[in-house]
Amino acid sequence: MATSPPTTSATPDAAPAPRPGGGHGAEDRRPAGGRFTYAPAPEATDHLRLRDRYELFIDGQFRPPAAGEHRLSINPATEEPLAEVAEAGPEDVERAVAAAARAFRSWSRLPGGRRGRYLFRLARLIQERQRELAVVESLDGGKPIRESRDVDIPLVAQHFFYHAGWADKLDHAFPGAPWRPLGVCGQVIPWNFPLMMLAWKIAPALATGNTVVLKPAETTPLTALLFAELCQQAGLPDGVVNVVTGGGPVGAQLVRAPGVAKVAFTGSTAVGKEIQRALAGSGKRLSLELGGKAAHVVFDDAPMDQAVEGVINGIYFNQGHVCCAGSRLLLQESMAEPFLRRLTRRMARLRVGDPLDKNTDVGAINSREQLGRITELVASGVAQGARLYQPPCELPSRGFWFPPSLFTDVAPSHRIAREEIFGPVLAVLTFRTPAEAVERANNTRYGLSAGVWTQSGARILWMSQRMRAGVVWANTYNQFDAAAPFGGFRESGFGREGGVQGLAAYVERG
Ligand code: ADP
Repeated sequence: MATSPPTTSATPDAAPAPRPGGGHGAEDRRPAGGRFTYAPAPEATDHLRLRDRYELFIDGQFRPPAAGEHRLSINPATEEPLAEVAEAGPEDVERAVAAAARAFRSWSRLPGGRRGRYLFRLARLIQERQRELAVVESLDGGKPIRESRDVDIPLVAQHFFYHAGWADKLDHAFPGAPWRPLGVCGQVIPWNFPLMMLAWKIAPALATGNTVVLKPAETTPLTALLFAELCQQAGLPDGVVNVVTGGGPVGAQLVRAPGVAKVAFTGSTAVGKEIQRALAGSGKRLSLELGGKAAHVVFDDAPMDQAVEGVINGIYFNQGHVCCAGSRLLLQESMAEPFLRRLTRRMARLRVGDPLDKNTDVGAINSREQLGRITELVASGVAQGARLYQPPCELPSRGFWFPPSLFTDVAPSHRIAREEIFGPVLAVLTFRTPAEAVERANNTRYGLSAGVWTQSGARILWMSQRMRAGVVWANTYNQFDAAAPFGGFRESGFGREGGVQGLAAYVERG
């Protein structure tokens, strides 16, 4: 197998002409692997209504931060600025929590059916503006428009519809004992699925009568601010949803704020641990959805072409910026070679480039910092003796890019087999027996997700009972549904989001 050094450089003559609103011009369309030529298929941006500057959304209004500071949110595919976004300070966080506490008094007493009506309205507004939301999600975060359009935004709407339906049926969700909402929820979300993480947090909180202060990630705040506009459009009572933007310190202030009754965090394990330490003894409820290093196990009886597609989707979806990404591929030794031949052939056909192009499979890395982390971990893989394969692909000269990558000759002790890379990098290991597959799959400090490919139903059950992961996908991968609880074990966190289990995280019972 060809080995090439990790590289993110591009040939200088590939420099694209940036278009207004981001993306690259037609001259940047290169056939992946040199086999096919594709006509450019860029999604239009002329319908966007982005403001030059966004303030904090507190008590139903956009308000400048007390210190008057803003930071730029950029397009990671071009490094061009998209909008200035307010940087909240401690005073702003306090004001947002106070507004949410005031709103809680009436929102929590509203009949469930009335809360449901607001959530249905929000769900419909998301559908009405789905094209705009998908484009902004791709511009701000770098993910392919095909994913934001066909996966992220439909799931966002689904989450609001699903929880709208629950709002007047909560006595059936929690039968046999009274239940109460918790109060103000401080919710901190990451940059990989900005609007989807917002939906996972806000929809169940509101359905159960809580109010919210949400802190989006500093590199992807824009769709949360568009959502704040939707809250205004829906006539949601002031203070029920507040959005404070800014960096990590804003999140730290929010989770520590005395008026917050429940903290929901999705992000890195390191920050999750810090939050857990900070909240110890505070009496606040906490749910954490953290990192992962999922095993994707393929047996020799698996339908090979489907499994190849599943593995590709498992790791290269959203550039591998996925906490449940199938980043460790466990292949049964007897078929590892033919499988890898097909997998690398398929990798060479992945189209890396302009996130707004409808033919793009792998978009931009979310930030310079994340690109640095991926590059460093990949270099460690090479240094520790693993073999790197990257298909030939030309990367745009501006923006943050990393080619789809695959490591063979990986030892379980290698950093690339143990640490979450959060990028388009797959580490391949082999196994001989189902028992060895389980042992290798569980040889991780994480426990968020896993995948298994086999024709045998009995083996699927056997494996899924033994793999320590919150979600086990069988003969598929990365399937999500608002009704299905999602969450982890061990250093992947605790608590579940989605389904009745997810609702339960937002109520006090008994
Ligand atoms: P990543 O390393 O993948 O960027 P982080 O865990 O750092 O993930 O970020 C996830 C979210 O947590 C972001 O919104 C970030 O601003 C926020 N955050 C970062 N540090 C802290 C902290 N100490 N306390 C609370 N939130 C934080």
